[in-house]
Amino acid sequence: MEHKCQSCAMPLKKEEDHGTGKNGEKSHDYCQFCMQNGQFVVEMSLDDYIQKQTEIAIKRFGMPRAKALNMAQEILPTLKRWKK
Ligand SMILES: [Zn+2]
Repeated sequence: MEHKCQSCAMPLKKEEDHGTGKNGEKSHDYCQFCMQNGQFVVEMSLDDYIQKQTEIAIKRFGMPRAKALNMAQEILPTLKRWKK
């Protein structure tokens, strides 16, 4: 299985892609944009996060809105942070 951030689904390929835990150690599950010092950088609900990731995909990848939203709705709820 591909190793990816369990908050935003960004692939964790390089050492520096990883966030940091409470003691400054590398976070195994989260990227640097989501986890710093053991805390989530942005606290928000799953619904808000889906909206945010959709906007990012549109801007960064030029993805059509419907497709971006679909992907976010499909992928994000399967990640550890958002699983109920
Ligand atoms: Zn992340």
